[in-house]
Amino acid sequence: MVQIIDGEKIASDIRSEVLAESEKLKKEGITPGLATVLVGENPASKVYVNMKEKDSKAVQFYSERHDLDENITEERLLSLVEELNNNDKIHGILVQLPLPKHIDENKILEAIDPAKDVDGFHPINVGKLVIGLETFLPCTPHGVFQLLKRYNIETDGADVVIIGRSNIVGKPMALILMQRKKGANATVTVTHSATKDLAAKASKADILIAAIGKPKFVTADMVKEGAVVIDVGVNRTEDGLVGDVDFEAVKDKASWITPVHGGVGPMTRAMLLVNTVESAKRHSNRQSKVSVKN
Ligand code: NAP
Repeated sequence: MVQIIDGEKIASDIRSEVLAESEKLKKEGITPGLATVLVGENPASKVYVNMKEKDSKAVQFYSERHDLDENITEERLLSLVEELNNNDKIHGILVQLPLPKHIDENKILEAIDPAKDVDGFHPINVGKLVIGLETFLPCTPHGVFQLLKRYNIETDGADVVIIGRSNIVGKPMALILMQRKKGANATVTVTHSATKDLAAKASKADILIAAIGKPKFVTADMVKEGAVVIDVGVNRTEDGLVGDVDFEAVKDKASWITPVHGGVGPMTRAMLLVNTVESAKRHSNRQSKVSVKN
């Protein structure tokens, strides 16, 4: 009998933990601060930024929002990032992607102070993840990692197959799960559009993670009996939001599965709060080290 992984519940637990940390920091005179930057009118991006702003207020963060015109120049955006880098009230900077075509996304991400890069996309933080140093983990794979951990799903030595190799989901997911540490230590196979016999590879997975962007791509024949199936996909179709996994067909084979609503999505939002409060804590530690030195 399949069991549902309740991302809504775990995200709510995590928000309570963040709120407790936030209150503790406030007693030390630090209010965690998150700045969100939205360029243009992309409706989905607007919804995401609204939710992030609401979440951060709910855990008593200081929240700053910058809505910028679609036609803003790259220079102006870079100078806003610089201002936020230098603003002591801000511990996390989130520039909502995608950016308009005339702006070089990598240039913007690289301009964010790695110590405030709560999305975990700066090359320095990606590099730290590669070599297993403490860093900000990108929110979506970090959320999946927490789901596996908090449901006590064994990853040690597990065969994990990830479908998708994007910089925001597939690749960091692989890097997180292959680390030699508790809650990871898996054997990870990353597949993509050029993979041969993808279905055969997927059907060997103890844990199958789909991050493709194609509705119901993962069918029952691609899933091993008893596998854990994590669906990262969010696809807008005429039937509403649909995942990358054909949930109805796959649920009879899986032992654990995430639903499209209340699965990975809420976890992505929760992990942004975790990274921001963590950034504020590191800032506080740096301050106390400086005062000890003085
Ligand atoms: P992406 O950048 O478009 O990457 C998609 C990946 O899937 C690529 O690596 C691509 O391979 C692979 N792929 C595409 N078609 C394939 C096929 N026929 N066979 C095998 N692999 C194929 O997408 P993303 O940003 O990682 O997002 C993936 C999905 O997750 C989307 O539905 C997105 O909306 C969703 N998402 C959800 C959350 C959340 O919080 N729930 C967060 C982020 C993303 P190539 O590299 O070879 O092109």
